[in-house]
Amino acid sequence: MTTSFDNAAQVLTPPEPGLPYLRTNRAKELTLDPGGITVEDGVITAITPSEEANLHIDATGCALLPGLVDCHTHLPFAGWRAHEYEQKVTGLPYEEIAKAGGGIASSARALRETPDEAVLHQAREIAGEMLQNGTTTFECKSGYGLSRDGELRSLKLATELGRSVDQGTTRTALLAHAVPNGYTADTWMDEVEAMIPEASEYATALDIFVESIAFGLEHLDRMGTLAAGHNLHLRAHAEQFTTMRSVPVALRHNARSLDHLSAIHPNDIGPLGSSNTAAVLLPGAEFMGKEATAPARELIDAGAIVVLATDGNPGTSPIFSLPLIIGLGVRRYGLSTKEALLATTLNAAYVLDLAETTGSIEPGKRADLILLDSPSEHVAYRLGRDSVAATFVAGEPVYVRPDAAWRIMKR
Ligand SMILES: [Zn+2]
Repeated sequence: MTTSFDNAAQVLTPPEPGLPYLRTNRAKELTLDPGGITVEDGVITAITPSEEANLHIDATGCALLPGLVDCHTHLPFAGWRAHEYEQKVTGLPYEEIAKAGGGIASSARALRETPDEAVLHQAREIAGEMLQNGTTTFECKSGYGLSRDGELRSLKLATELGRSVDQGTTRTALLAHAVPNGYTADTWMDEVEAMIPEASEYATALDIFVESIAFGLEHLDRMGTLAAGHNLHLRAHAEQFTTMRSVPVALRHNARSLDHLSAIHPNDIGPLGSSNTAAVLLPGAEFMGKEATAPARELIDAGAIVVLATDGNPGTSPIFSLPLIIGLGVRRYGLSTKEALLATTLNAAYVLDLAETTGSIEPGKRADLILLDSPSEHVAYRLGRDSVAATFVAGEPVYVRPDAAWRIMKR
């Protein structure tokens, strides 16, 4: 089976093949030239179109991009927290929302009380929306289990979800999200240590929420040691509200990513920038939570591998559209289109350890692709508009917007 994508106005390609990531200060080396590509049996084989293909995709006027990679979501979860959002925006302090049973505890309760099939149904619907928004790979996280059984159930549900959606998925064990009732941060970390051998059957990374109201630097240090001991990547929700100085600790453990960073200490920007630890910025959470803006330009100037993700979750960022996140990132951080696209494709695939197979348009990679009905600059500029005409996973059209159906032609 050969598919040819013909006559695109822009094709996003990396400056060289085989890059595990591209530091964001090199984003201008990406090319967005007109052209086409050939896909055989789900794999990109040439950065030129093919006359002899069985299937032709008419990409006239379109941008052809790698499928978007969402490397930070909290799927699967149960229900939403719209009432809390309304309370928050109308001025009720978070402490009062939490005291009334809101926050992470509320999502933990909902997950506990919702049968597996209903949790999966909601997550599959969201995955369907993500496909329409061009996401071809996404991360799942546990973290709302808040008990050994709850966390393992969450990872099993995420595994089940991965089998039943079109996208590629990965699983991260966010085993230290909030300190469950009846524990201190220290005694909960003992539980975490005990559950990691089983959790590691499902997950490729460990995650921890380092914050004054959650876990401290000594717990991050311990999680780093546990990650290395079980051959898992270390990731952390870090420097979101409070300047904790988690960066030096995380870098000692060669963390794969640090996520949020709105409150990063200025002295930590340089070391993070010269490391292989990605800086995952979450402009949706910043926008919805009226948080400080992460110093993206300083990170880029320091050489950082900058990534954008949705942080899709029912509390702080109920957003699952990466095109919207690109728009918010461009505006908040002053990113160029190429920087924002790099941050949601190759560099995001690096965070999930999938850059060998997805994240860029180059021969040998799986044909995870999206077709925009506009130049790529319009994604951020026409904020909120649906520009994804079609989404392809391993060369298969898994979503085609009805008005773009004519573009797919068998010969
Ligand atoms: Zn998160």
